[in-house]
Amino acid sequence: MIIDGKAIAAAIREEAKAKAESLKARGIIPSLSVILVGDDPASQIYVRNKGRACDSAGIVSNIIRMPADTSQRALMEQITALNGDATVSGILVQLPLPAHLDEAMALELIDPRKDVDGLHPMNAGYMALGMPGIVSCTPKGCIELLKRSGIKIAGANAVVVGRSNIVGKPMAMLLLKEHATMTICHSRTADLGQITRQADILVVAAGRQALITEGMVKPGAAVLDVGTNRGQDGKLRGDVDFEGVSRVAGWITPVPRGVGPMTIAMLLMNTLEAAGSQGV
Ligand code: NAD
Repeated sequence: MIIDGKAIAAAIREEAKAKAESLKARGIIPSLSVILVGDDPASQIYVRNKGRACDSAGIVSNIIRMPADTSQRALMEQITALNGDATVSGILVQLPLPAHLDEAMALELIDPRKDVDGLHPMNAGYMALGMPGIVSCTPKGCIELLKRSGIKIAGANAVVVGRSNIVGKPMAMLLLKEHATMTICHSRTADLGQITRQADILVVAAGRQALITEGMVKPGAAVLDVGTNRGQDGKLRGDVDFEGVSRVAGWITPVPRGVGPMTIAMLLMNTLEAAGSQGV
């Protein structure tokens, strides 16, 4: 079964619209400020899409464009200003930042209550402890895909390929919270296929096109492909060989129209939750 992330995300975006309406009825105007430094073409597209998604959900969006040679100090001042602005419910710094800027330092300055990407160490810590906090969008979207597709997580053997702070680690934490038995693989894993073949749920976030092939997947497994790799033909492809793996998997997400649309839907939800909890 192909998991239609675009359709599931569209349903969540409708739910977001209704949630925004009910916040407004309480006098709360949800708003998202996105800081975009430099002119990376992919980031420009992502930020534009986030702004449009906010508009259609009834969330005020404000895109702050800063030049590629922005200093760390100027970036920090901008974040500080947004932290102190009571009309701003969510702040997102579009990654990656230009190489001369310190990403960790910038993310740590964001008010954790406004950290709608869920990347502040405090939110990452809350998640690790199983406490309420803002959960990063892509892993949160993957859990929603599993739940809304009726895939049982509790007791499942789950394998995550990738250990980044943005996807792999939080993904593993969330699956653990949902009572899966977790294994994390990474670039130094000795025999990847031997481990992925044990997975009832396999989440792949390595950024390596066609890393996962048919023989590496357990028959009937749920396979979520987070990877986005731009081929030489300009087309977007995942980390999973879709054609081969779809012959053995029970469920599979395509790329595009799989995990990607869920990331933006979760950003809207996080912004609305941040607005509700702050009362702005
Ligand atoms: P990253 O480069 O920070 O991390 C990649 C991880 O994969 C690392 O932990 C590395 O150890 C592991 N890895 C690399 N090669 C491997 C191999 N051969 N075998 C096993 N593990 C290997 O990347 P990231 O930020 O976590 O993103 C991963 C992918 O997901 C990228 O393609 C990115 O574009 C995509 N992504 C998609 C979305 C979305 O919304 N769809 C969101 C975030 C990231």
